[in-house]
Amino acid sequence: MTVPIAKLSFWGVRGSTPTVDPATWRYGGNTPCLELIAPDGTKIILDCGTGLRMLGSRWAAPNGGKAPGTHILVTHYHWDHIQGIPFFSPLYVENNEFHFYSFRSKFLGRDSLKQVFEAQMALPYFPVDMSAMSARRKFKEVDGGDSFTVGENKITARWLNHPQGCLGFRIETPAGTVAYATDNEPGDAKMDESLRELAAGADIFINDAQFTPEQLETTRKGWGHSSWLEGVKVARHAGAKTLVLFHHDPDSTDRMVDSILRQAREEFDSVFAASEGMVITLGAPGDPVQAHMPGTRTALRREAQFHAKVSGVTEGGKDFEEETVVRDISLQGALISLKHLPRLQSELQVTMEAPGGDGVQSMNLRGYVVRIDEGPEKGHVAVGVVFTD
Ligand SMILES: [Zn+2]
Ligand SMILES: [Zn+2]
Repeated sequence: MTVPIAKLSFWGVRGSTPTVDPATWRYGGNTPCLELIAPDGTKIILDCGTGLRMLGSRWAAPNGGKAPGTHILVTHYHWDHIQGIPFFSPLYVENNEFHFYSFRSKFLGRDSLKQVFEAQMALPYFPVDMSAMSARRKFKEVDGGDSFTVGENKITARWLNHPQGCLGFRIETPAGTVAYATDNEPGDAKMDESLRELAAGADIFINDAQFTPEQLETTRKGWGHSSWLEGVKVARHAGAKTLVLFHHDPDSTDRMVDSILRQAREEFDSVFAASEGMVITLGAPGDPVQAHMPGTRTALRREAQFHAKVSGVTEGGKDFEEETVVRDISLQGALISLKHLPRLQSELQVTMEAPGGDGVQSMNLRGYVVRIDEGPEKGHVAVGVVFTD
């Protein structure tokens, strides 16, 4: 018997506008785009921010080409959720088929999303027009409250509180349920209730965490976004199992997102800060939610051998310290073999002994756990860390 497994990939996690500032490199600068592959092979894309371009450049047809098309849910028409469309190369390939779902905007009227396509590709904003897109495209209007099925997966849409409107989506697959609620501000009783309905018992609850709780109460009130604290409250109330903080502010550096994540983890057991390249697996036996951080973020490694003392916090929340040999290191990060299982996205202190001109020197580094894999030695895990300073 095979176990149903769903795979959720994060291609863009930044809110409002893309960032290329090196201080935002670790969590990533592309705007919202997620990909969910359901156990039946159905491919669902959530939002078309700039992350969509990367998804397109690594394109694989759904279910090895056997599934009839890809389903793309667009939450709303703000730039950060549509900007990837003209740069999504699979739209220019004849045999591909896409089913788009979005709401009828009162500013655009009928076929809102189709009009967005046309406007984005109108001269002189883009070098080619819509006729260059040879993939089959179908557009379906959805409204808050609608439910429909795609393959064996049930999708529910609900209105969220955001300027010019925004839909949140709940996707129930046989491997687990994902609630995607970006771009929403708490405070409207009816829509707060909609948000809890979307998140009810969800395995993964992805929520807008653009602002700090202080900003949300003061300077950013009414901007249509939320905070980690609101996400925690909803997750608790709705019984969501894992909270993913999403739509990071373009002004939030990696260190600021680290601090937001740290605070959220003090209040709720299972929290991740969405990061570009992160992949969450749902439904794996024994461990229903597994997250993997991108290995490319620890690129430029070179083989070396340094004796090191590593201390940090385990998955179970206990402090640990152990000695190891670091073999794979770069300016940005290292791959460290450990007996302890540190928590993903937690901090490690790494003290390394490096042979220098005047004998052995000791180097203190702060690392951040981005990846955990099975280690080459028995009883060890291979831990990918990015150095934060
Ligand atoms: Zn947005
Ligand atoms: Zn928006």
